[in-house]
Amino acid sequence: MAEAGALSPLPGRDGCPADDAVKRYEQNVKLSGIKRDIEELCEAVPQLVSVFKIKDKIGEGTFSSVYLATAQLQAGHEEKIALKHLIPTSHPVRIAAELQCLTVAGGQDNVMGVKYCFRNDDHVVIAMPYLEHESFLDILNSLSFQEVREYMFNLFIALKRIHQFGIVHRDVKPSNFLYNRRLKKYALVDFGLAQGTHDTKIELLKFVQAEARQDGCSRNKCHGVIGHKGSLSRPAPKNLDQQCTTRTSVKRSYTNAQIHAKPGRDGKEGSVGLSVQRSVFGERNFNIHSSISHESPAEKCIKPSKTVDVISRKLAVKKTAVSAKALNSVTRKATSSCLTVLTCDCFGTDRVCSICLSRRQQVAPRAGTPGFRAPEVLTKCPDQTTAIDMWSAGVIFLSLLSGRYPFYKASDDLTALAQIMTIRGSRETIQAAKAFGKSVLCSKEVPAQDLRKLCERLRGLDSWTPRLAVDPPGHTSGGPASENTDPQASLGQASAAQRSEGSLSGGANAGCPRVITANTEGWDTVPDVTYDLLDRLLDLNPASRITAEAALLHPFFRDMSS
Ligand code: ADP
Ligand code: MG
Ligand code: ZN
Repeated sequence: MAEAGALSPLPGRDGCPADDAVKRYEQNVKLSGIKRDIEELCEAVPQLVSVFKIKDKIGEGTFSSVYLATAQLQAGHEEKIALKHLIPTSHPVRIAAELQCLTVAGGQDNVMGVKYCFRNDDHVVIAMPYLEHESFLDILNSLSFQEVREYMFNLFIALKRIHQFGIVHRDVKPSNFLYNRRLKKYALVDFGLAQGTHDTKIELLKFVQAEARQDGCSRNKCHGVIGHKGSLSRPAPKNLDQQCTTRTSVKRSYTNAQIHAKPGRDGKEGSVGLSVQRSVFGERNFNIHSSISHESPAEKCIKPSKTVDVISRKLAVKKTAVSAKALNSVTRKATSSCLTVLTCDCFGTDRVCSICLSRRQQVAPRAGTPGFRAPEVLTKCPDQTTAIDMWSAGVIFLSLLSGRYPFYKASDDLTALAQIMTIRGSRETIQAAKAFGKSVLCSKEVPAQDLRKLCERLRGLDSWTPRLAVDPPGHTSGGPASENTDPQASLGQASAAQRSEGSLSGGANAGCPRVITANTEGWDTVPDVTYDLLDRLLDLNPASRITAEAALLHPFFRDMSS
C-alpha cells in the first residue's frame, strides 16, 4: 500500500534549476507533514517514545504508515527498526492475522519477522527489523541478468516458506518484496491482505478466509454503492467518544475513497517522485472488451449490496461460535478498541463479543493491485490458492525481463483481464477460465504473444525496434492497436508503449535530458529456460501453474542454492 520509495527525498537529482526550486518547496511541505505525522504517532502510542527515536516516515498507504526508527541497545549501538502503524479502523482480526503471519512464518527464508507490537486504544504498531531497500523502478533497468535470477530465486524462497504455512499473500508485488541490492538481502512484507488455504497453519487466517468469500463479490463495487462521500485525509480520530460515533462513517469513507485512492497508489508504486508511466498498457489505450459470467451471462461482478449483507450476517454468527477458543490475546487486545460502542458487551472483559467480531471488514479496498492479480482472482473464482501469488511473481518477472514497470496498469479487474489477454491470448484465457468454472466473453480475438520476442522488443534488444523514438509528450499511444487483430497490431502496441516511455520520461523532466543507463550484462544471451519459467508462472490455469517449490528446482536456477 504505502511505497517507501515515493517518500524518499530526491534532492535535485536531475539538476534542473526550475525543477530544483519546485522540489525544494515540495520537500519542505512534505517534511513538515512528516514531522506532524510523527508527533501524532507519538501521541497515539506514547509508549513508543521511551523505546524509539522516530526518524522518518518511509511509507504511507491506505492502511498503514511506516516509519523508520532507531532503538538504543544496551551495547551502545543503535538498531534500525521499521514501525508499521496500522490504520485504527482496521478490523481487529485482520490486524491479529497480519501479526500472526509475521510471527509464525516470518523471521527466516526472506520473510520479514517482527520484533515487538504496541497497542494503545485502537492504534497498533508493529515493530520490525528495518531493511533498507531499493525502489524497483529506479533499479529495474540497471539489473544484470544474474541479479534478476537471484531476485526471483529469493522471491520463491519466501513464497515457498509462506505457502508451506498455508498463507496466500495476495499482494505480491515489488513494494512488498524488499530488496537490498548491496547486501543481497530480501524480505517479503505486508500480510495485510493475506488469506489462509483450507489447511492453513495460521489460526487467525481461518477467520479472514471466511470473510474473503464476501470480499470476492463485494470488493470495490458493492461497497461503493453505499455511497458515502467521505475523504480519506486524516483517518485517526483521537479521542475515544468521537471514535465510537464516527467509526462507521470513517470506515465507509474508506471503502469509497478507494476508488480515488487506488490509481494513485498504483501509479505511486516505487516511483520516487517521477510520474513516468512505464507500463506497457495505459487505461485508455485499450479497447478489448470482456465480461465474465458465472451464474448468468449478464451478471458482472456487481451484486446487490443486499447479498453482501446476508453473507456478512451469516459470517457474524459463524465467527461468534468459534471465537472464544481461536482468538488469542492479541486479538482480544486489539479488539478492545471498539469496546466503548454502546451496544457492545465485552468492554473491560478479556473476550470479544459478537458485535465486535461481526464488525464488517474493510474488504472493498483490500483487493491487492489489479495489475498483479491472477486471472482466477480477476474472474472472482471462489477457490483461490497459493497459485495466485505465483502469478504475481510471474508479473514481477515479466517486468524484470521486459524492463517495464508496472507492466499491467489497470484500475479495474476487467481491464486487467483484457490486458492479460493481449499477452497470453484471448482464446487461451477463455479456455483457462472455463477450466475453473468461469465463462469469459471477449469482443475480439487476440493471439498469444511469444514471451521472448515480447520482452526483447520492450527491452529494446531486438534489432528493428527504435529505442526511445520520440512522440510529443503526453501523447497517448497504442489506442488503435487492439482494433486490429493481425499479429502486427500487438507488435504495434508494444512499440507504441516503447515510444510513450521515451516521450514521457522527457516530459516529466520538463525538457531536462535524463540519461538512462541500461545494464546489458547477460541480457544478450538470455537462455530459453528463462521464458519457460515465465510461461509456467503466467500459466492461465492455476491448477497447472508452477509452485514455488517447483520453481526453485527449475533449470532457470541451475547451479543456484539457498
Ligand atoms: P502497506 O500495507 O501500507 O502496504 P507495508 O507493510 O507494505 O504496508 O509497508 C509499506 C512500505 O514500508 C513498504 O513498501 C516498504 O517500503 C516499507 N517497509 C515496510 N516494512 C519495512 C521494513 N521492515 N523495513 C524497511 N521498510 C519497510
Ligand atoms: Mg504494501
Ligand atoms: Zn465488544
